[in-house]
Formats: sequence, C-alpha cells, structure tokens
Amino acid sequence: MNIENLLRDNIKTIKAYSSARDEYKDASTNMVFIDANENPFQSNVNRYPDPQQSKVKQRLAEIKGVKTSQILLGNGSDEVLDLLFRAFCEPNRDNVITLPPTYGMYSVLADLNAIQIQKVLLDANFEPKVNEILDAQNQFSKILFLCSPNNPTANSFSAHKIEELLKGFNGIVVIDEAYIDFSNSDSWVSRLNEFPNLIVTQTLSKAYGLAGIRLGLCFASEFIISILNKIKPPYNVNQLTQDRAIERLSDLEEVKNEVVSILRQRDVLANELSKVSFVETIHPSDSNFLLVKVDDANHRYVQLIEKGIVVRNRTTQPLCENCLRFTIGTEAENKVLIKTLNQL
Ligand SMILES: *Cc1c(COP(=O)(O)O)cnc(C)c1O
Repeated sequence: MNIENLLRDNIKTIKAYSSARDEYKDASTNMVFIDANENPFQSNVNRYPDPQQSKVKQRLAEIKGVKTSQILLGNGSDEVLDLLFRAFCEPNRDNVITLPPTYGMYSVLADLNAIQIQKVLLDANFEPKVNEILDAQNQFSKILFLCSPNNPTANSFSAHKIEELLKGFNGIVVIDEAYIDFSNSDSWVSRLNEFPNLIVTQTLSKAYGLAGIRLGLCFASEFIISILNKIKPPYNVNQLTQDRAIERLSDLEEVKNEVVSILRQRDVLANELSKVSFVETIHPSDSNFLLVKVDDANHRYVQLIEKGIVVRNRTTQPLCENCLRFTIGTEAENKVLIKTLNQL
C-alpha cells in the first residue's frame, strides 16, 4: 500500500511554516533570542513553546516503545483527528467510514471538512461487521475510524476483526484508544511497524486525568508523522500543557493507582446497578464508564438532573435505545448515584 497516494494533492507538495524556534535546537546555551518579537522579560512563558514538544515526546517514546519521530501531539485528540482529515480527505470528494454508535467527533469533523460519512452499524454485540465495512469502501474512502474501547458501548473490538480491517481496508485505519489505559486489550501502538496504514490516537484526558490541559497523542509511521508535522499549527501545544504533561508522565505509579481504583469502583457500581429495579442491562465494560439500559432513559435522565446528577443520555444513538452512560466517579460519588437511583 502506498500511503503517499492517499494524501490530498495539495498536501503532497505543501511546505511547512518555518517558525523562529525551529531554527535553533538547544535553548540551554547562552544565546540571545531576538528573533521572534517576544517580550524579553522572564515569566516562564514569555517565550514561544517548543514547536516539536521534544521533552514530552522523549518521555512518551520511552513509555510507549516508539521513536519520537513516530509521535505527533495535538491540542487534544480533536486537533489530531482534524489534522488527519486535512491530510487525507479531499473536501466534496472523499469519504470516511464510521461505525455507530461511536464517538461523535468523527462525524462533526467530517461535516466541518465537507467529507461524506459512510456509516456501518456495529453488530448486536457492538463488534464491527468486517465484511460489510470492506464492501462499503470505494476508491474515495480514505479513513476508517475504529474506536476501541468504543465510546459509548464501552467494549473493545476483537483484535482478530481489527486485524482483518487493517489488512482489507484500502485507506488509513485510525484506532482511537482514548480508553486503552482502562482496558485488558493490548494497544495497537506496538504493531505500528506491521501496518503502514495504521494510526493510533490516545489522549491524556481520561486515565491520565488531564482533560483540562488538552493533550492528544498520535502514533504512526515516520512518514505519516512527517506529513502531519508539516500541516499542524506551529505552536499547537502550549508551554503550560507541555510542562504539566511531563510532570504527570514522570509519575506513572500514581496514574496506575488511580486506574486500579476506578476499575475497582466500576465493579462495585455494576454490582449495585444490577440491583436497581428499573435497570435492564449493564453492558460489559473495558473502560471507565458503564452503558446501562433502563426502562425509560429520558425520564430517568431528567429525574437524575433534578437530583443534581448529570449522566449522558445515549438513547438517540443507534443500538442504544434507553441507554444511559455513567462515568465511574469516586467512591463517594458512586454512593450518591446508587442511593439516588434507589430513591427514584
Ligand atoms: C474522550 C475521548 C477522546 C478525547 O478527546 P480529547 O480531545 O483528547 O480530550 C477521544 N476519543 C474518544 C472516543 C473519547 O471518548
């Protein structure tokens, strides 16, 4: 598969903006920086941030077992996903394939970029229908989005099915692993070298507890990353975000402990929910949330709001009729939820 052929024509030849800070590599020397029209008075953030986020990438490369040249960072996964559209999808011509029910941003970004969406519903077990997906592709199908573990269904897709899709799809396969740190499944990051069309996205917004700093991670071949680097805004990850990310990535033990605690609470919550009279199904979860079928999702949603508890109502999503999505909170929050549900 020739990945270059999948790129938009204008992207194949585009020249990156060369920022002032691209031209020096080592800030620790005693150089005088009068190149970027910054204010010279020190405040920790008076200088533009490192456009390549080298320190964050070095730490991530160690953790994930990839080269720094296989990493792109974005202002949240949302920016990363948008860059993928802009690199591969020609407006008003190309299409992408999504597998509803799934994360809403894929279709929002497709609409924004004037890209058609081919939807192939998941099956009754929330697994991809491999043959139907491969039949749905045409010469203009550029990206297949697989979200695993999937939001809002909470399950991971079978590795066997993902592999069939990676081999059979003629475009880019994006595996969105926002919830991978809660999962029993292996990350596909370790298989990047086998599949030139594979892109894996992750985020610091969920397990790493840093939704507020906006840091999205993208792992792919060096070729794909070099293209994305050319088209990203030069200073897309700010200095405060880079600093905070490095701090958090240096204490993985704490992250791990929080994940263990969340997963323990998930089991407690699932057990308690199974005793609530109007709960009909608790879907198996490989993530930090539960998709729960109740008698009347709209009614229960409003009742919970009135009691000060905000959950996500997914009832309008295909295959999610009367389903609410509960994020696993702290032990105290989960107790309040259970108590409240039992009082309704
Ligand atoms: C929460 C979530 C993200 C995270 O997006 P950020 O922009 O990095 O916060 C990405 N994908 C899915 C499926 C999610 O549920």
